Amino acid sequence: MKRIVVYCGAATGNNPIYITATKKLASWLVEHNLELIYGGGGVGLMGILSDQVLAKGGQIHGVTTKQLVSQGAESPRLRELSDLTVTDNMSARKAEMMNLSNGCIALPGGIGTLEEITQAFSWARLGDNPNPCVFYNVNGYYDSLAKMFDQMATEGFLSAADRKKVLFSDSLDEIYAFMTTYVPPKIRQY
Ligand code: AMP
Repeated sequence: MKRIVVYCGAATGNNPIYITATKKLASWLVEHNLELIYGGGGVGLMGILSDQVLAKGGQIHGVTTKQLVSQGAESPRLRELSDLTVTDNMSARKAEMMNLSNGCIALPGGIGTLEEITQAFSWARLGDNPNPCVFYNVNGYYDSLAKMFDQMATEGFLSAADRKKVLFSDSLDEIYAFMTTYVPPKIRQY
C-alpha cells in the first residue's frame, strides 16, 4: 500500500472528537509512509486532514474539479506544497481518486463523503475498484449505516461474503490489518 484516498466532511461536525480523529488519521498515514489522496479542499475535516499531513511532512495529492476551483474551494497550501489534479467534473474526479490510490477510507462526513465511499465499495463489487474500502467509525458515527449493510445481507440484497469486504472500525490497527490482507470480492454475476 502506497496511497490512500480519504473521503471526509467539508464541515468539521459539532463534536471535537472528529477533528481529533482526523489529526490521528493524518499522523497514521505519515507514520505508515502513505501518501494522502483527497478532494483537495481546505475546509472542514478535509482542511484539518491536509494541514496535519503537511505539518507531519507527508505527501498529498489533491484531486478537484474546475468548478470547485472556480469557487475557491481548494486548499491554498496544497497549491504551494503538493500535487493538485483538476478534472472536468465530479465523475472524472471520483474515478481519478480511485485510480491513484490503493485503498479507500471514509472519515465522518456528509452526503458527499457517503456518496464517494459507497461508490468505491459498489465499484469493488463490479470489479472496477480493486482496493479495500473502510469506514473509520469514529464515535460510532457509522453504526447505523453498518446496521443497514447488515440488513442488506440479511434480506438478500448483499451477499454475506461481500458484506465482509467492507470494514467499519474505529481502530487504525484493525484498519491497517484489513487493508493489507484484503482480497477483492468476486465480480458480481447475474
Ligand atoms: P460532504 O461529506 O457532503 O461534506 O462532502 C465532502 C466530500 O465531497 C469530500 O470527500 C470531497 O470529495 C467532496 N467535497 C465537498 N466539498 C468540497 C470542497 N469544498 N472541496 C473539495 N471537495 C469537496
